[in-house]
Amino acid sequence: MQEWNNFYINGKWIAPSGKGKIDVINASTEEVMATIPEGDEHDADAAVTAARAAFDHWSNTPPAERGALLKKVQEGMKARSDELAKVIAAEVGMPLKLAGLIQVGSPIANFGYYAKMASEFQWSEVTGNSRVVREPVGVVACITPWNYPLHQIAAKVAAALAAGCTVVLKPSEVAPVNAFILAEVIDAAGLPPGVFNLISGTGPVAGEALVRHPDVDMVSFTGSTRAGKRISEVAAATVKRVALELGGKSASVILDDADLPAAVKGTINACFLNSGQTCSAHTRMLVPESRYEEVAKLAVETASAFSIGDPFGGSAKLGPLISEAQRERVRNYIRKGMEEGAELLCGGPDAPEELPKGYYVKPTVFGRVKPDSTIAQEEIFGPVLSIITYRDEEEAVRIANGTPYGLAGGVWAGSDERAQQLAKRLRTGQIDINGGGFNLFAPFGGYKQSGRGREMGPYGMEEFLEYKSLQFKPNAPALAPTAPY
Ligand code: NAD
Repeated sequence: MQEWNNFYINGKWIAPSGKGKIDVINASTEEVMATIPEGDEHDADAAVTAARAAFDHWSNTPPAERGALLKKVQEGMKARSDELAKVIAAEVGMPLKLAGLIQVGSPIANFGYYAKMASEFQWSEVTGNSRVVREPVGVVACITPWNYPLHQIAAKVAAALAAGCTVVLKPSEVAPVNAFILAEVIDAAGLPPGVFNLISGTGPVAGEALVRHPDVDMVSFTGSTRAGKRISEVAAATVKRVALELGGKSASVILDDADLPAAVKGTINACFLNSGQTCSAHTRMLVPESRYEEVAKLAVETASAFSIGDPFGGSAKLGPLISEAQRERVRNYIRKGMEEGAELLCGGPDAPEELPKGYYVKPTVFGRVKPDSTIAQEEIFGPVLSIITYRDEEEAVRIANGTPYGLAGGVWAGSDERAQQLAKRLRTGQIDINGGGFNLFAPFGGYKQSGRGREMGPYGMEEFLEYKSLQFKPNAPALAPTAPY
């Protein structure tokens, strides 16, 4: 068991003010794998004070120099990638190989991307008699969830640092060990003290203290819609900028001329990844009424082929859910689906007999789910797919748009053109056309109650920038496109 006793503040590992400890549980053995400090508002204040003090220097550091330091962070992460993959597979429960590829591969790619972006970004442009410059928003509190913990951290921290902001990170208390390792990597890379700070603790205490803090200029949050609403309320008192990446209930719309086996397989893969603990999971599969029987059969075949088991065992496609609380939540949704009259096609609420330890849930598919039923409306965050039938395209669009969320989705059709026409009508931030793959540098974020703002790529860095416009007299040399700024 690993004990983390200190926070990383102002370039040093220091003892917290909060005296509590939080256990980190291994999702497959149910044993305590680490402990972390439970920070309080004094810890939040110390971290924000350090970030504030570091801001002037960091924001005025030439972007290419900031980029070079981020590149060193990327190299440090690469050197510790095996260790990070093992930690995340244990914390989250994702099979080790996938954890290495996705949970560690993508944050490494993001640090590299923003290292380059810092020097390539166009920091100023001329419009009329103004030079419009982009400047970092200031001190950013990054508050992150547990499902893709390091990916969500990197999407915020790398982009904010490249933009010239200083950062206080409060990772999820459920999967925090990877964040402590990242802090060690950042320390070794030699970022100036105070540019990056790490505290840990619960949302309502350490998290809210950051959100309330008058010296925090922006909160970048990924997590539940419930916490996102609370954060928006608290942040309003100091008129902070708030970026929110929240929950989803994404629809995969399969049109009547789609390649059904490919569409069903693609949708189930997009639903069950990380045992369904993915905000952009395609959890509703919308199919023409006339094709329901075929789809149901294909769905059961595909779902049953998802082997579940030990994330370190080598062959499993699905690991356990992250925690007992999460498993109970998912099982309750499965029971609710049965009570509300959906057809349980495979899976169910009972634990798999062969896995007495670990928070496993069987891959579950419901058929003939009513679009307004609980399992079709609420985010379950487990390996549970709802098949919903529609009569015509109008109805498909109405059902797809008929939840409070709008994060992701898919359209499957006989041609990309037809799929794209339907995609235009969906109120959601990302849509995979005929199985198009995830693009790490395309804007990611939600419509409606799935959030506000976008992460990834240049869009993600722009979230952390202000505009400033300088007005000059006509023909001033500073307005020349090549003039220095
Ligand atoms: P959560 O909202 O419980 O916690 C997320 C983070 O917020 C944690 O660090 C937590 O400590 C903190 N927090 C909680 N309450 C807070 C408060 N009042 N003030 C400040 N901080 C607070 O979410 P979770 O259970 O860790 O993650 C699962 C949720 O995250 C799901 O709903 C999922 O859809 C969502 N999610 C969204 C995205 C996205 O990009 N849209 C990505 C991943 C996860």
